[in-house]
Amino acid sequence: MHIDTKLPKVGTTIFTVMSQLAAEHGAVNLGQGFPDFPVPARLVDALGRAMQAGHNQYAPMTGIPALRQAIAAKTERCYGWRPDADAEITVTSGATEAIFSAIHAVVRAGEEVIVLDPCYDCYEPAIELAGAKAVHVPLDPATFAPDWDAVRSAITPRTRLLMVNSPHNPSGAMLSAADMQALQDLLHGTDILLLSDEVYEHIVFDGARHESALLYPALRERAFVISSFGKTYHCTGWKLGYCIAPPALSAEFRKVHQYNVFCSFNPAQHAFAEMIEAEPEHHESLGAFYQAKRDRFRERLQATRLKPLPVPGGYFQLVDYSAVSSLPDVEFARWLTVEHGVTGIPLSPFYAAPPPGQRLLRLCFAKNDETLNLALDRLSKL
Ligand code: PMP
Ligand code: GLN
Repeated sequence: MHIDTKLPKVGTTIFTVMSQLAAEHGAVNLGQGFPDFPVPARLVDALGRAMQAGHNQYAPMTGIPALRQAIAAKTERCYGWRPDADAEITVTSGATEAIFSAIHAVVRAGEEVIVLDPCYDCYEPAIELAGAKAVHVPLDPATFAPDWDAVRSAITPRTRLLMVNSPHNPSGAMLSAADMQALQDLLHGTDILLLSDEVYEHIVFDGARHESALLYPALRERAFVISSFGKTYHCTGWKLGYCIAPPALSAEFRKVHQYNVFCSFNPAQHAFAEMIEAEPEHHESLGAFYQAKRDRFRERLQATRLKPLPVPGGYFQLVDYSAVSSLPDVEFARWLTVEHGVTGIPLSPFYAAPPPGQRLLRLCFAKNDETLNLALDRLSKL
């Protein structure tokens, strides 16, 4: 039987491909973004206790009240505004599910969604499955800052949604207060909705402020703001996140969420509710924790032939490898894994049209010092 694929451009994700290649060749895996250090002990204990206590059946569709209240309180502490835990917060199966549900809640067939390239890999397939078109606007190839005039030029009467991501994967770039002002001006007077992917919201460096869309009333009234516990608590495999949106948008979001997953992993919801209440300040130390890793990693990278780019936020370091090789990035990533035992992620899969001649590789520094040192020992031999 002939299957006419709905997603002709989609293959296996670059993260899976590179993790498999790393495993096959025993390479140090700085590719797929996940920490290799433990989850806070309190959280693991709380998860075990939640299961022992019998929280093993369906959770409420929107998330357990205690967790939604904890998210509301945390949001108020961070951004000075408290969302309504019942009407505006939905607990999801990771940010990926939230992004998928948000897109499907509001984007119709034939409409357009503006994404800023390079962008995270799950955006476009969700847009295409909705029958819509992703309109790719490139970020500045040197700084990864948005060109708001180019975004404005990409708007058409069919534009339904604009997606932004800060701190940004793969570059670590962050939107500034001026960007947020430009974004407000751009959207003012339109019916265009905003999806703000803020999964790295607490991993910010050098005293910078994360410019959440939640800080700006004119943005949050039209936004799905999405975050993930996986990044903040070192547990990407637990797949728990959330979406904050105004009541009318949350109502539409929940129509999809309820038939997509119905509800998310119940024991972890109890664990996070307990953790956030017991250690509300946990996320405040995350920036310093990762900044120390970033600084050590960059210092040793300076002694290699790879040129590290600035990292304002997130846990990825981009390196320019043009002094080492003129291979295109996918081939370089493969060569580095097979021949030198270090795995990174090429950038071209994050683009509709990668900038010609770009020679960048993404390295994840959310790793133990031993892992990073082993990778650096190998990279210093290049
Ligand atoms: N958005 C971005 C920018 C990401 O980097 C990731 C995962 N690293 C996600 C969304 C998905 O998050 P989750 O694992 O919670 O689904
Ligand atoms: N978000 C992770 C990254 O950017 C990968 C998650 C996945 O493998 N889907 O590396």
